[in-house]
Amino acid sequence: MRVGILGGGQLGRMLALAGHPLGLRFRVLDTYADAPAGAMAELVVGDSFDAREALARFAEGLELVTYEFENVPVAAAEFLAAQVPVLPPPQALAASQDRLTEKTFFNELGVPTPGFQAVDSREALEFALHELGSPAVLKTRRLGYDGKGQRILCSAADVQPAWEALHGQTLILESFVPFDREVSLLSVRGRDGSTAFYPLIENYHHEGILRRSIAPAPSTPPALQAQAEEYGRQVLEALDYVGVLAIEFFQQGDRLLANEMAPRVHNSGHWTIEGAETSQFENHLRAVLGLPLGATAPRGHAVMLNLIGEIPELAAVLALPSAHAHLYAKEPRPGRKLGHITLRGDAEDEVRRAATGLEDSLELQ
Ligand code: AMP
Repeated sequence: MRVGILGGGQLGRMLALAGHPLGLRFRVLDTYADAPAGAMAELVVGDSFDAREALARFAEGLELVTYEFENVPVAAAEFLAAQVPVLPPPQALAASQDRLTEKTFFNELGVPTPGFQAVDSREALEFALHELGSPAVLKTRRLGYDGKGQRILCSAADVQPAWEALHGQTLILESFVPFDREVSLLSVRGRDGSTAFYPLIENYHHEGILRRSIAPAPSTPPALQAQAEEYGRQVLEALDYVGVLAIEFFQQGDRLLANEMAPRVHNSGHWTIEGAETSQFENHLRAVLGLPLGATAPRGHAVMLNLIGEIPELAAVLALPSAHAHLYAKEPRPGRKLGHITLRGDAEDEVRRAATGLEDSLELQ
């Protein structure tokens, strides 16, 4: 059975790695001939994800199509859906590609978010800042990731430079949330409507890029986990979703505010490869193929550290008995995610101490 993946990045690579033991074969579509998933799957290179000729070549003989990044044009997913099942459903792409649509969708379901206003002119920006108060965050509505396309506004003096930097694109202004911490929920829903949830994950970002995830998130009361799962269930059902879905929240006291969602496997879930009964990658494949979902219980405690911009000496990492390294075969470049390390163990304090020691010795930020 051959599964198609739109996108050939590290998420596609790890999906293929999880699918090989299930006897699956993979074909990925990407715009780069050296896409990381190309080592694990047949690679179709297209000029863009919208190129019909490449999409047709990609779809030929596939059982099913899924994706590993959410900026696949909805029209391309719909074009494929006319020939082969596409899961998660293309409406999940549409709901998550635009921050305004996404936050409106959350609010309609009763999932709280930071305050927000659409911004389509300089006057609208001034009005929105007045309404929401400062500080606030101006973001591009589309194609923003890893903190790209964002400016923090602390006072009226920041309006002009932020407007100059981002105008010309559709924008949204959000209240800046002085959160206690950031957490994410990974949910999975099968074709039969069954659901499963991983424990909440605590995430630390620097310069808009995820650096570290701790799972399960320390000091998480059961009520917070239950609240997150309730929000997750609402979103899954509203979208008639199939596959793994990630929702990122800001936590303030016992409140969760949804920041964004990703209709795919997620960087904050990489720890599940060694740290959970079933990895997010295997569970995504089980879901889209209509197989029973696997257990989402953690195996002890895990810390995941992203390798950004440069790759440390492998021997230094693997000298730690609890460390597992995953390298994505990408050319090093500043700000680029090149791999990750997961430390796993039974005692939370020992795993966290080992992770801090490794961050210091490798000078990870
Ligand atoms: P995003 O691209 O929306 O995920 O933003 C990247 C990171 O910027 C988030 O993970 C937060 O650390 C920070 N951030 C984004 N929006 C806000 C906000 N409204 N309030 C506080 N921090 C934010």
